Amino acid sequence: MPHSKLSPSASERWINCPISVHLCEGFEDTRSVYAAEGTLAHKLGELKILNELTNTSVENNEFMKIVKNKLYDSEMEIHASEYLERVRAVFNETNIPYLATEIKVDLSEWLGSNSFGTADCIIASPGVLHVFDFKYGKNVEVKAENNSQMRLYALGAAEMFDPIYGIETVITHIIQPRMNNFSSETIELKELRNWAETVVKPAATAALTATGDAHKGNWCTFCLAKPVCREYGREYENPPGRDDPHKLSNQEIAYRISKLEGIDTYLKTLKEFALSEVLSGKEVPGYKAVEGRSNRSWSDQKKAFEKAIESGVERSALYEEKPLTLAKVEKLMGKSDFNNILGEFVIKPQGKPTLVKDSDKRSPFKRKSAKEAFKNVDFSQIEFSSK
Ligand code: SF4
Repeated sequence: MPHSKLSPSASERWINCPISVHLCEGFEDTRSVYAAEGTLAHKLGELKILNELTNTSVENNEFMKIVKNKLYDSEMEIHASEYLERVRAVFNETNIPYLATEIKVDLSEWLGSNSFGTADCIIASPGVLHVFDFKYGKNVEVKAENNSQMRLYALGAAEMFDPIYGIETVITHIIQPRMNNFSSETIELKELRNWAETVVKPAATAALTATGDAHKGNWCTFCLAKPVCREYGREYENPPGRDDPHKLSNQEIAYRISKLEGIDTYLKTLKEFALSEVLSGKEVPGYKAVEGRSNRSWSDQKKAFEKAIESGVERSALYEEKPLTLAKVEKLMGKSDFNNILGEFVIKPQGKPTLVKDSDKRSPFKRKSAKEAFKNVDFSQIEFSSK
């Protein structure tokens, strides 16, 4: 197999759509801010695990370096501790556990030479291997079941520890505390190796040799090739047909909604790509780049305000006092204090009816009675105006 450019984290995409690897070439991944926050949370989680569950004594200044980072906050502390506690629970139940963090596993046998992955944490023991992944994202829920990234880490780790521990069973764990999402998958090593031979290897070969067709699915979400991918844009090519020359039926409306959902995002993706093409000097017929609108801003607000005050403007007129949003007050106080101290003042009005797919987990909309909607409101504290 040729030199690899396949990563376990993108494996769901390239296993299902091997050609995406070729189509993504030349696109730059710009999601580094989120990555930086996740990296810091991982570092904190790792230090906590090393400190509590191994003989490594972590210097206090290692923790302080994290605490001083501008991306650190109390939420990160809570979630990294949750990661530690989940690992600790498995560690305490395991017979003769060997624990390692940030362990680099070799995947060259399946993904091509020089392919590696890093498992956040593993616990090896006679016959059983646990592999943990701490997910810090809060938008997309990740499941352990059939999770190719986890399986690849498990595969690489099992090859390392099998000669020592005689691994038969592998248990992968996803710990995603920001979404209160925790799951695991138990798989026999034999089955895992079979999956690697029959699913991973053929997909990796197709990906590295740029063969096969594009396949659209959930894995497209993070694919950088979306703007140029013909398969991804195919459903927007042909407008839905007509059953009646004048009036749309509900079936047709449902069909159109299902086809047009996501078109805003698709349009935005295409426009961003076309703009980058035009800016790099390429032609996109019928389009050009112009200077967009911009808002005025102070070059030095402090000095400007001092000058305004000197000229007679009242200082208080230059500033407005704004209350923090409910979410920010909750973050400031922490969830538990917020609920204990301010919970009685929080009301949650019924949301507006929203159209979603049948498959949505929420129950169908039911209008609340006025009594139910205002049950937390103390009307004796409200002044009613006769105007
Ligand atoms: S957008 Fe989807 S279908 Fe197109 S290359 Fe990427 S993963 Fe494949």
